Amino acid sequence: MDTWQHTIKKTVSFAGIGLHSGNTVKLYIKPAGPNTGIRFVRTDLHQDVMIPATLYRVSDTRLATTLAKDDVKVSTTEHLLAALAGMGIDNVVVELDNDEVPIMDGSAAPFVHVLRKAGRLRQKSARVLLRITRRIEVKNGDSVVAIEPHDGFKVSGEIDFDHHLVRKQRFAVEVDPETFMKEIASARTFGFLHEVEFLRRNGKALGGSLDNAIVIDRSEILNAEGLRFADEFVRHKLLDLIGDLALLGCPVLGHITATKAGHAQHLQLMREIADHPECWQLVKWADNGEEGVLEKVVMTTRAAGNKILPYLVPPQVMPAANGAPLPA
Ligand SMILES: [Zn+2]
Repeated sequence: MDTWQHTIKKTVSFAGIGLHSGNTVKLYIKPAGPNTGIRFVRTDLHQDVMIPATLYRVSDTRLATTLAKDDVKVSTTEHLLAALAGMGIDNVVVELDNDEVPIMDGSAAPFVHVLRKAGRLRQKSARVLLRITRRIEVKNGDSVVAIEPHDGFKVSGEIDFDHHLVRKQRFAVEVDPETFMKEIASARTFGFLHEVEFLRRNGKALGGSLDNAIVIDRSEILNAEGLRFADEFVRHKLLDLIGDLALLGCPVLGHITATKAGHAQHLQLMREIADHPECWQLVKWADNGEEGVLEKVVMTTRAAGNKILPYLVPPQVMPAANGAPLPA
């Protein structure tokens, strides 16, 4: 894993529609200084509103991961966050003029494309990594999400749908920019036709189409072009997982296994991590003057308390540090 923080070399922009709102949105991704983290800025309001990409700002996990500050929200953040995390980009400001990140083709590939066009820029600050030292698990019925110590960032997923075109799928990958691009980024979001119809009746999925989601009915996949991977569904689940886990605010050294999980379970796992500082350390790689790097604990878990983001989020946007209730 990279030793240094990275941003992008230049601003890039693109436009698209929101999957749920159907609104057109224009989005700019701009370079940002070390320790900025990823910040969303809504520029369409009478005053710009900045929402840092942190688990403390999650306001809704139904259908997509929505971040909010007071009544200002940015929804469907997970695919863009996955692209940033997957490509190893730590610091950017994402400006958008509506309340939902555009869905593009339903995967992270279009975001990867613009990020590669922007170019990756190494910064002079060492990355702070969240290194898992003890297993943490969250269980809800048959959904299980766990993270355990691992020398790298690995994700393993399993889904099991009662549909003959999906059924049980498993996929695991050691995540780095190359594997992310090749194995995960282009896996699209998916839905079952009856669910899509239900969502539409309830004012959701208004921007949804066969151009930005795999849609499955009783007997077949409706998209004429078919699937991009035979197991595209579970790969997309891992894409969502990588995007949601970026809300921890720094790269993770650990192995996450997610079985029949979604955004809500990902958030639960992150909250468990935040609540159990005895299960992790914040570390950074220090240059020892030779070609190798020396691992160094920069903050003991006791000093970190339950704050996972001491470096990446300025104190004024952190919730009251100790024991403050997290937004529901
Ligand atoms: Zn998704």
